[in-house]
Amino acid sequence: MPSPSHAYRPMSEAPLTVQQLAELHVHLEGTIRRETAVTLSAHNGLPEPPPYEYSDLAGFLAVYGEVSRCMVTSQDFERVIFEHGEVMASQHITYAEISFNPSLHAADGWIDGVVRGRASVAREFGIEISWLVELVRGGSTSSNERALNIALSTEGVVGVGLVGDESISAAPLSGLVERARAAGLGFMPHAGQVGGPEVVREAVELLGATRVAHGVGAEPDAEVLRLLVDRGVCLCVCPSSNARIGLKPNFRKFADRGIPLVVNTDDPAMVPTNLQRELRVAETVHGLDRRALTEAAWRHRFGRPSNERRRNVVIS
Ligand SMILES: [Zn+2]
Repeated sequence: MPSPSHAYRPMSEAPLTVQQLAELHVHLEGTIRRETAVTLSAHNGLPEPPPYEYSDLAGFLAVYGEVSRCMVTSQDFERVIFEHGEVMASQHITYAEISFNPSLHAADGWIDGVVRGRASVAREFGIEISWLVELVRGGSTSSNERALNIALSTEGVVGVGLVGDESISAAPLSGLVERARAAGLGFMPHAGQVGGPEVVREAVELLGATRVAHGVGAEPDAEVLRLLVDRGVCLCVCPSSNARIGLKPNFRKFADRGIPLVVNTDDPAMVPTNLQRELRVAETVHGLDRRALTEAAWRHRFGRPSNERRRNVVIS
């Protein structure tokens, strides 16, 4: 029996190159497998989390909040990170910027699991994880300062994120964002997922974002679209995640104006989806260019992989 590599060897005998992918917008808490959430909840004496059933943003956030709280100990984090490492390996992802939200994890001590989980994914799968730590719109000052302190003191963190109710201005967080930037961290706020152009404008003009999670709410405002073009702002969009909560963005409108887009899974276990599927959907449903999407992901990352050779692995 020929080995699989022989079976698929091209006629020319030229090496077959597998494109290695980067993903920039994925929430650690959104990667928790349902069965893992059930197991961790039981182990931590918490009620069983709800099934991953929702049809709008409010429904999603209710599920997400309960599921996130099942991650309590450092071992819980390590397990969830490792399991997502398995998923990333199956998707040919070799670099990922993954965010987590400290406000959903009140206990102390779990950050050790974040560090160990990242190391084990690098060791077992050759995948480099960089972290974004999420601030929360309308969150308490102490909670957001705790998040920033975690970002500034944890190995592997390359940026801060921003989540929460988009009807709440992020202006009060500008000081924390500035401290993060002064320390060399990137900033990718959620803006324009369900909020309008003014939310995207604030993220870019006031908070200086060069990369925005979603951002599609800018669509009706020509001035804000121009702002995105002029500043070279990259939108990290999530087609299936949007569709699952009833959103129908016109991604092509952004691409046609020259705004760089990267496609992502957002919350792959809950949507559910994976990055290869998102790239297919982007190409076949939304008419986006796969090559432009995958190259933009590498170009707009905050971190720099320690081994650039991982980008393309030659199967001989
Ligand atoms: Zn997101």
